[in-house]
Amino acid sequence: MTISTLQDLFLDELSDIYDAERQLSEALPKMAENAQNKKLAEGFRKHLKETERQIKRIEKVLEICDFDLPDEECEAMKGLIKEGEQMIADIEDHNVLDAALITAAQKVEHYEIASYGSLLALGKCLDIDPKALDMLKESMEEEKRTDETLTMLAEEEGINERALQQAA
Ligand code: FE
Ligand code: FE
Ligand code: FE
Repeated sequence: MTISTLQDLFLDELSDIYDAERQLSEALPKMAENAQNKKLAEGFRKHLKETERQIKRIEKVLEICDFDLPDEECEAMKGLIKEGEQMIADIEDHNVLDAALITAAQKVEHYEIASYGSLLALGKCLDIDPKALDMLKESMEEEKRTDETLTMLAEEEGINERALQQAA
């Protein structure tokens, strides 16, 4: 789409994260299936549920603001998911793969955090309905918690340490 105004930019970004969330909802089951650590697999499944709610939340934002989204494909999410799939294809050791899945997932979460953060900043500037902004903020907080959980699994839960022992 042609972006001429800040409002156009907001809609373009909203459309981008909407597509990104939908792509991720299709990729998370495969990540869960390939995780050997039970807590990691559970974490991916939990985040799939959250992601499905985040998609609904964006649809609600569209309703509240009476927006029509342009058709946008998130090339970045496509690439991040592709990198994750490449890890699954290339890594034989399941412990190393767990560490790699965490890496791939954290890149995704950081992309989402940046997307929602920018939408909130633009939305405040544009006087978007506070109810809609609260919903975007709620999703951003979920992404942040997910990122923290992934760090916890890599470090305290010992997934990286286990990968180190197996990788000789
Ligand atoms: Fe998300
Ligand atoms: Fe994108
Ligand atoms: Fe996420």
